[in-house]
Amino acid sequence: MPAIAVHGGAGDIPPAELTPEREAAYRTGLEQALRAGQRILEAGGPSLDAVVAAVQVLEDNPLFNAGRGAVIAANGICELDASLMEGRDLRAGAVTGLRHVKSPIGLARLVMDVSPHVMLSGQGAEEFALEQGLEPVANRYFVTERRQRELAAALDASAGSFRESLMGTVGAVALDAAGDLAAATSTGGMTAKRWGRVGDSPVIGAGTYAANDCCAVSATGHGEYFIRATVAHEIASLIRYAGKSVREAADIVVHGQLQQMGGEGGVIVVGRDGTLALPFNSRGMLRGSIDAQGRMTTGIL
Ligand code: ASP
Repeated sequence: MPAIAVHGGAGDIPPAELTPEREAAYRTGLEQALRAGQRILEAGGPSLDAVVAAVQVLEDNPLFNAGRGAVIAANGICELDASLMEGRDLRAGAVTGLRHVKSPIGLARLVMDVSPHVMLSGQGAEEFALEQGLEPVANRYFVTERRQRELAAALDASAGSFRESLMGTVGAVALDAAGDLAAATSTGGMTAKRWGRVGDSPVIGAGTYAANDCCAVSATGHGEYFIRATVAHEIASLIRYAGKSVREAADIVVHGQLQQMGGEGGVIVVGRDGTLALPFNSRGMLRGSIDAQGRMTTGIL
């Protein structure tokens, strides 16, 4: 019965960039994340632990836009956001604007578990991380050569069609054997963003949502649109109040409302019966899932 899905970001991946080696590396990264989550679910562990474990694998993988390998803001600094939610008691934790926390999703979990708050930002969040005994890392820990090239290209207007990593983000949703749902999302945001900019990923109801009576959702895409469309909660509401199926609800938001607004990206959703939906309206979305029958699939375009 347990099921899990992960994403590694949505966007327009130019065919020339998608070499067989790059494609294989993306799929391997997604599979590693799925397996980390699956191990916990198979042992009867909670979906919350599974989504955190899956996201941490992707945060540590420099190919994905979260943790190490995060995209870089216009001022040359990586600023990271993350959030998670568990569907049984609707508890949630979120962090924004982190510069020195190795695992933003790990800190979001601590905000949920040991602080009386839901969201901490910037310096206050960093101080909380230190209090919790998390070892700070230098900002350059997150910076990779590839992201530096992408920042330079994004800042250079003459680069024209540069698109690939304007978007990214990683996320996971899961249903465990006890019937509990959970969602987690972690990101570096968007390449060349203004420092201090906050996207949808740490916003509960926009980039992340979970409630046991309907579904768990993690989003990836152009955050300014996802916040205004309250994407994750909208999907939940369509299931909860309009009686839509998981797939219908996800499609209505991603291919309807969001697309009409001009918002590019996608979502991963798992329903209370383990139904999975992974729709996107961008050219590609790095994604993978293990369904309730134990079948693993990954996809890129
Ligand atoms: N949603 C993220 C943000 O706007 C970026 C992405 O998912 O590509 O910060």
